[in-house]
Order: sequence, then C-alpha cells, then structure tokens
Amino acid sequence: MHDQLAPLLKQYFGYDAFRPLQREIIAATMSGKDVVAILPTGAGKSLTFQLPALAEDGITLVVSPLIALMKDQVDSLTAAGVPATFLNSSLDPADARDRSEALSHGEYKLLYAAPERVMTAGFIADLKRWNVKRIAVDEAHCISEWGHDFRPEYRQLAQLRKHLPGIPFLALTATATPKVRTDISRQLQMEKPETFLASFNRPNLSYSILPKSKPARQVFEFVHSRREESGIIYLQSRKATEAMAATLKAEGINAIAYHAGLDPSQRAKNQEAFIRDEAQIVCATVAFGMGINKPDVRYVIHADLPKNIEGYYQETGRAGRDGLPSECLLLYSRGDLIRNLRFLEDATDLEAKKIAETQMRRMADFAETATCRRSALLAYFGETWPDENCGGCDACLNPPEEYDATLQAQKLLSCIIRAKQACGFSTGANHISQVLAGANTAKVREYGHDKITTHGIGADTPREEWAALARQLIQQGLIDVSQDNYQTLNVSRKGSETLKSREKILLTRLPFTESTGASAKLSRAGNIPCDEPLFQALRALRKTIADEKSVPPYVIFGDTPLRHMARRYPQAKADFLNIPGVGTQKLEDYGQAFMAEIKTHLETNEKQSFDPLKTPAPPKMKTEGGLTGTQLETLDHFKSGKSIAQIAKTRDMVTSTIASHLVAAIIHGKITPNPRDFFSEETEKRIDACVATAEEGFTKLGPIHATLNGEIPYETLKLYAAFKSLETPA
Ligand code: ADP
Ligand code: ZN
Repeated sequence: MHDQLAPLLKQYFGYDAFRPLQREIIAATMSGKDVVAILPTGAGKSLTFQLPALAEDGITLVVSPLIALMKDQVDSLTAAGVPATFLNSSLDPADARDRSEALSHGEYKLLYAAPERVMTAGFIADLKRWNVKRIAVDEAHCISEWGHDFRPEYRQLAQLRKHLPGIPFLALTATATPKVRTDISRQLQMEKPETFLASFNRPNLSYSILPKSKPARQVFEFVHSRREESGIIYLQSRKATEAMAATLKAEGINAIAYHAGLDPSQRAKNQEAFIRDEAQIVCATVAFGMGINKPDVRYVIHADLPKNIEGYYQETGRAGRDGLPSECLLLYSRGDLIRNLRFLEDATDLEAKKIAETQMRRMADFAETATCRRSALLAYFGETWPDENCGGCDACLNPPEEYDATLQAQKLLSCIIRAKQACGFSTGANHISQVLAGANTAKVREYGHDKITTHGIGADTPREEWAALARQLIQQGLIDVSQDNYQTLNVSRKGSETLKSREKILLTRLPFTESTGASAKLSRAGNIPCDEPLFQALRALRKTIADEKSVPPYVIFGDTPLRHMARRYPQAKADFLNIPGVGTQKLEDYGQAFMAEIKTHLETNEKQSFDPLKTPAPPKMKTEGGLTGTQLETLDHFKSGKSIAQIAKTRDMVTSTIASHLVAAIIHGKITPNPRDFFSEETEKRIDACVATAEEGFTKLGPIHATLNGEIPYETLKLYAAFKSLETPA
C-alpha cells in the first residue's frame, strides 16, 4: 500500500515524506476501521483522507461545518489537480445539478458538504448511488457539547450508518480534551475505533507574555516591525476590535475589524480581505478563526486575557499552520481576570459558573507564572515537556534572574499598611501602585493617601513594576489578597514579620518591560532562510495570479514553497518539481511564470547561497500522547483482549497498577472502552448511590470505598471515576 501512496503524495502534493502519524492514520482508515485522529492544527490532517481518496476508487464524503472552509479546501485541491467539489447552499441550482451529474459519473474523488445538507433525504439517496468509500468528519469536535463549536446538526451524522452500512468513518479534530474525544466516537456510534493522538506541541510557535500597560501602543510597536506579515489580534469586545483597527489604521497599518456584530456581508468582506492579503491585520473577537485556513498567519496577539487555556491554545494555534516560525503574544493584566470574573456574576447556572471561574483563574495563573510557557501549556493537555529549556518562549529565552528586592518590597509593604491606617480599609494593587508613584487622583486625595509618608516614595519605578512586585509578594505569602472581586491587599503575618526583622527578600526579575519590540522574533524553529527580495517578488507574483483566478494566494503556493524557490533558484522543470509543495499540476500551471520571475531577478541580482536546512529533531517526549511506556505496554495487552487480571499476571504487577494504567489510557482517549468491560451495571448503580451522598463526589475514593464496606476494590473505583470524569465537564 505504501508503495502506491508515496508517488501520489509527490505527484499531487509535492511532498517526499509523511508527517508524524499521517501514514498510520491512512493505513488504519484504508483497512476499513473507524478512526479518530486528534492532531494539532497544522499537523496535516486533511492529507489523511485526501490521499486515500486518490488511492482508491469511489468517492470520499467530507463533512465540513463551514461553507467558506469547503470552498477553500476545494480550491486548493483543484489547484493541485485533485478532482474535488462541494455542494452547499451557496451554489445556484444549475451549478449544483451539474456537480451532481458529474458525481454520478464518478468524476470526483472528494465531495465536501455541510451536515445539514448531508442529512436530507435526497442527498442520502444520491450518496447511495455515488459509490461512497469513506466518510471523513472534519472539525469533529463540533459534534460535542463540550467542544467550543457545538453544532447540533453534527449529531445527525450517525444515522448515515444505517443508510451506508459498512462505510468507515474518519473523524478529525484539533481539540484535545478527553470528554470531547469520547463524545466523538460515541456520537458517531463508532465501534472499537482506532484513536490517534499526537503531541499538542507546536514547535514553530513561540510564546511570550508581557504585562499589559498601554495595549494599543504595545500592539502597534509589535506589528510595526512586522510590516509584511499577516496577524490576528484578539480582543474581548466588539468595540475594542473597532477601536484597535482604527488606531492601527491611523498609523498607516492596514487593519480591519471582525466581530459577530458586523452585518454578514461586511463580515464576509473583511474576512476575504484578510485571506487575500489585502488587509494585513484583523482585530477580532473570538468569533473569528474557525473558518480560517490561512496558513501564513505569522502572529497572534491576545490584547485581552482569554477566558480559558483551551481557548488560548486554539486561538494561538491559528498562527503558523504552514510550519514556519510564528509568534504568540499575550498582554496580561490582573484587571482582565477581574473583568472576566465579573461577566459571570449574573450567571444562573451555578455549576457552569463554577467551572468557568476555575478556568479563568487557571488562565491567569498561567499568565502569572514565570516558568516555561510551552511546558505549562502542554501540561494542561496532560503532556510532559522533556527538556529544561524549550528554546521558544520568553521564560526560557530570558530566564528570570533573582535579585535583592528588599528595599522595594519594604516600600510596598509599608505603603499597604500606611494606606490602611489612613482610611481604615484595605485597597487593591492598582491603587497602592498609584500611591507609591505619587499619583494625585481624586481617589488618592479622598482616602487621604496623598498625606501618608509612603506617597510618592516609589516614583522612580513604573507602576506596572509595582503591580508585578505585588503579585510576587502575594505568591511568596507576604501579602494576602481578599477573596472577593475587589482583591484588596493586606500584609500577612509572614509579611509583617519579614518587615520587622529586615529579612532579605529575593525575587525573580520578570520581563518588566512593556515593550513588545523586546520580544522580537523569539523562535526560529522551522525557519527557512532565503533570498528575501526574491521571496517578496515571488509573493507579489503569487498575489497577481491569485487575483486573476479569484482564489486566496496560498491556494497557488504557500510561503514554504516560495522560500525554497528563493533558496534554490530553480530554472529547469525537474528542479522546480523538486521544490516541496510542487506537484505535477502546479508545475504545469505555474512553473513557467515563477521560473521566469526568478530569471528576471537573477538578471540584476547575484545568487545567494545558504547553508543546508537542518530539520531539528523533535524533542524526545517522555510520553506518547500523555502515556508513559509502561502504560502503553499495558494498553497493548488490553487491546489484544486480555483482562486486568491476565495483564497483571503477564506483567507481574498488581491489578491496581494495571487498572491505573488503563485509567490513564481512558483519560487520554487512547481507548474508548465500555464500562461493562470493567464493572457491572449493578455495581455502577451501587457506586452512583454512594457518590450522590458523598461530599466530594467521586473525587475522593477513600470515603466511598469505606461506605461500601470495602466490597468494591479500589481499581474498580478508579475506573469508575475515569468514566465519570469523561461524562462531566472538567
Ligand atoms: P490541519 O488540518 O491538521 O490543520 P492541514 O491539513 O491544513 O493541517 O495541513 C497543514 C499544512 O501542512 C498544509 O500546508 C499541508 O499542505 C502541509 N502538509 C501536510 N502534509 C504534509 C507532508 N507530509 N509534508 C509536508 N507538508 C505537509
Ligand atoms: Zn519555554
């Protein structure tokens, strides 16, 4: 099979090798199994159904949630010479009829359609006639209520099973949470699906977090030095997106706004302008992104704090789909957390409110910790980053250094004490920073804080630095924060003792500078050095051709092939075909134009030479998709049909250890077993009843074990808890 696939990979897509897991996923789906593939954005999921479609007869139905996404994929496939089409409501009836006709004659290998269309009676009848070989469900997390883009229509898809018996499903998503994963296989009624889960590390993305002071200025500084590049700026409110776009425009930067409040035609127009490289920057709410396949987004800035880490990961994930180095910048202020929490105040669903609040606080913790961003992000998805230094985040590249902060800390602590003495109540970090800086605001005067001795004793230090210092002293337990929304500060017992004893206070220096320019170009992983002027010339040519054909520029060529062209200066067909991303169709359609452009360039410019590209070996993950070696070994035994007791015997381990391995496998979605493989319905009901009265639910097993008189072994309880954790939101 592989022998047949490699030539197709080269011929149509211009690639010489598979990316991690592509080959495995393709093999599994071609063997007729149901498959769930969870790979991060940019990993190359599309290829795993496109290539089998080319290798087999019949057609592959691709269910896709958005019309824009379908058109984009079909345009890209058509440019690569792959016979593909889509059917949706944007087509006029005559066009739709022509396409159906062609499908009946087997003229297409791939058919894209939205779920609501797929489930109509007429369409199902057509599908039965069209020799459908496989159903690929793209953005499969849309099927789950726990996902971030729930679409009820996706739920209907399981009914295709009875209309098209025996046709394998291939579900694809970049959403990593276990509950979404299990929901996918359950909702699609998959039997024993094979699950593939990649590491969620995005090696070409770099992460940095800066204290937010003047966001518009900080954003401008950042984008100003990246004039030629596309970027997304996420903001919390519609108004803020408009304001940011206006500010940047006033500075001569081509920015547009995008939010759900724009009328649909304007929204579509703005999105199109971004995709077609006519607008460099889109200032958007989180409404923007899902329909965007633009592979060359070079940076994503969060100017406001996202509501949860999952959202932050998804949104930053829209940068660098093409694998070239891209940056993610977050501007953080504690005030954003408070504002986010305030949104929750009126929530009536208390359970949901609690979950949302926890997630918001975790996001803020992430932003406030000065350790490796990548490893913190991956830890959230249950992965362990193996290296000390990730080489691609601000914390690793500019590690915080320890310094003697005794004097500064003393000023801050005594200011908190004096301020409270003066007005009789405690105030927040922001206010204290103002007092230290010597601000003369109405509030400062009203509280009598302009009269205290600490007023203005910190005028030599920026206010943001005082706020950051306060955060560190909170972390060290020298300051207590009130648990209400006001987050007022009090010097703790430990704080006043430290103050009295004049003990030395050591802190780590955070990147205090608010200057985003300082974070410039962190990560070079995946960089392809090339003749930059030629690269720009080739980009311009790409844009001209794309406009003529009325497609986005990246449909013609991505940045990666253009960079390779601008290193190798191909002048013969064979050399051009050797450029990664150039297949035979593209050679035929565009080879001449691009080689001519290169030739013209060389008439007035010298060839530059470049060192051979080093493909950096990915760091050796201690775990594969969150599982350790020993856990994987247990998993293999389990998959071959052995019981816990049998595996324990074979591996010479106790049953509870084996159970804990399986628990990890369940939680990481490596298996989606049936609870009945492990305990009876009766047992489940017994535990349910006990959990219902237990104070801490199923999170503490000890009390439950005791209440049940120890009759149900711990390993059963652990497995029970694993299943339950998949059912409820984390
Ligand atoms: P995903 O759907 O997982 O986000 P895509 O399918 O859009 O990712 O692929 C991301 C990019 O990677 C595309 O530009 C695609 O052409 C490229 N790509 C896919 N497979 C390979 C491969 N084997 N070698 C090189 N590039 C690849
Ligand atoms: Zn790091």
